[in-house]
Amino acid sequence: MATKSRGFTSTIVHTDRRDPIEHGSIHKPVHTAVTYSYDDARDLAAVFQGEKGGYTYGRQVNPTVTALQDKISMMENSLSTAAFGTGMAAIGTTLFALLRAGDHFISSSFLFGNTNSLFNSFAAHGIEVTFVDATSREEVEKAVQPNTKLVFVETIANPRTQVSDLEGIGEVCREHGLIYFVDNTMTTPYLFQPREVGASLIINSLTKYIGGHANALGGSVTETGNYDWSDFPNIYDNYKKGDPSGWAIQQIKKKGLRDFGASLGPEAAHHISVGSDTLALRMERICSNAQTLCEYLSNHSKVKKVYYPGVADHPEHERSSTLFRHHGGIFSIELVDDVDCFDFINKLDLVICSSNLGDTRSLAIPVAHSIYFEMGPERRASMGIDDSLVRFSMGIEEPDDLVTDFEQALGI
Ligand SMILES: *Cc1c(COP(=O)(O)O)cnc(C)c1O
Repeated sequence: MATKSRGFTSTIVHTDRRDPIEHGSIHKPVHTAVTYSYDDARDLAAVFQGEKGGYTYGRQVNPTVTALQDKISMMENSLSTAAFGTGMAAIGTTLFALLRAGDHFISSSFLFGNTNSLFNSFAAHGIEVTFVDATSREEVEKAVQPNTKLVFVETIANPRTQVSDLEGIGEVCREHGLIYFVDNTMTTPYLFQPREVGASLIINSLTKYIGGHANALGGSVTETGNYDWSDFPNIYDNYKKGDPSGWAIQQIKKKGLRDFGASLGPEAAHHISVGSDTLALRMERICSNAQTLCEYLSNHSKVKKVYYPGVADHPEHERSSTLFRHHGGIFSIELVDDVDCFDFINKLDLVICSSNLGDTRSLAIPVAHSIYFEMGPERRASMGIDDSLVRFSMGIEEPDDLVTDFEQALGI
């Protein structure tokens, strides 16, 4: 990897060309063929048997998707990556491929809502989960049982922006031999590389910042190489090939992606790959916009509370400053009692009312009434989600225009 010492963007915008591409194309073309032909049937057999690299059928992988997978491995400074149709598919199929009935895993209780729902479904299928406060390594350690196999955390949680004790939990996982599965969607590999705190596997929702333009769904799981799978009981003999630090990805690709079929399509992979070229540039602008807005809102009389790791009174401000290049693009606010969150959002002109995040456009959503509605008032209260909470995903607009928009909307 001769390019390793170059900067993040210099490296990723040239990854495709590291392998020869037809006609000298400067990026990987969109390969739409579902299946691939062989002149010699023995070559086809060798590919099926894993003796040779190559393509067989589009559900498993496709050349356009391979190029994106390699780019993500490069971004995460890790061994290898499997891409999926969505971020949820990446999480769900990975746990499905690696855990079995009777296993237990520990998860942060501060979770993306759909991940919370997914983990409860696993519990219904005999894979037990304990939700803990992942800002504290002690809480994670206390939850370890003899049948615990894995710990799942997000870097910065959404919407309240708690920052997990990523280093401490890495030590707990190492001491207890647990798989450390980190959701890096909020930070992206530009702000943080979970491999450095001992992560075994990394999930990124490519739909969010990596794709960056809200025009394609996708997800990925990256194998860092930190975990020695030779003592892990759930790896099938078929996938115990080569270095044991790379066994899991084979099983995730076969028992997860191939058998479940939540594949990433080539057109989506192309959109995501083009979007990802500017990840670093977008994150610089997005994070500085979030910081500017939070400093402005912290002193506003209509705002009761600002949740953003970049403000000094955030409980994990120090941790965020140590671990991450910047503090991310998501923040939430609670409004004072006489301001209705719906009225406020409706008055925003530039900022769009929408449920996504990681777009180039700034977005706002009334959390308790939308993405966290289904979990009910008790679970919301336990997660600290107030009825007036509004979550923002900062875009790349000019900062002055955003401040002006908030100012007029809070003038209600
Ligand atoms: C959006 C999101 C996911 C799921 O990704 P999709 O691509 O929407 O399926 C997972 N984790 C986090 C933190 C997310 O924000």
